[in-house]
Amino acid sequence: MSGLFPMLFLSHGSPVNAVEETEFSRALGRLAARLPRPKAILCISAHWTSPGPLLGSRTQGPLVYDFYGFPPELYRITWPAPGQPALAERAAGLLAAWSPRLDPGRGLDHGAWTVLMRLFPAADVPVLQLSLADGLSPQDHARLAAALAPLRKEDVLIAGSGNFTHNLAEVSWEGDAEPPSWALDFDRAGQAALEAGDLSFFIDAVSDSRAGRLRAHPTDDHLLPLLYTAALAAASGEGPETVYEGWQNGSLSMRCHAWGL
Ligand code: ZN
Repeated sequence: MSGLFPMLFLSHGSPVNAVEETEFSRALGRLAARLPRPKAILCISAHWTSPGPLLGSRTQGPLVYDFYGFPPELYRITWPAPGQPALAERAAGLLAAWSPRLDPGRGLDHGAWTVLMRLFPAADVPVLQLSLADGLSPQDHARLAAALAPLRKEDVLIAGSGNFTHNLAEVSWEGDAEPPSWALDFDRAGQAALEAGDLSFFIDAVSDSRAGRLRAHPTDDHLLPLLYTAALAAASGEGPETVYEGWQNGSLSMRCHAWGL
């Protein structure tokens, strides 16, 4: 036992994953059955970026339905997980070097709730979101992530929610096409880097994404939550457990990992 609470990286894919029964949703169900109960969840979602780091210090929620053109039932989902302002204050202290601010008005975005509701359907664990700060170098994002490590000794579940590969211009909305070679290549290389504890792979990937050189991530938003969990795993020397691997919409790798489980 490392004394560290488990940590997760979750690919979230389309918002319909909140309601559709698939191999992916069943894998999250199996994961839910194995997870110890955290005191709270700190989620780093692809869908909250801000000029500097923000911590959602809400006490209770709205959900943010930050997607368009999906079935009406998705906009009626409720998942009333509370917030925990005291945890927001604690995390702000750990991140003081980056001068984070508290945001009491921000609800949970779909990167957080579509997957967390699968793991904690009773909505009885407080959830705190940390935004992705614009303008930080990939190295600084990794340092910021590693500064959150003490929370894993305080029974806080840290969960990054992005996608292992994510190129919206190249997804297939009609059925599931075969994954293309550029997505398969990144999926394999990223998995190997996680297994090797190679944080530099993810730092280089963010740099390549920003430079327009990475087809698997033409923007860095869904990659940064993976960098955060890779940085924390590198800090603790833990290897990943793959809790799901599979593809949706052709080129979206839905690979999910747990550490310390
Ligand atoms: Zn997303």
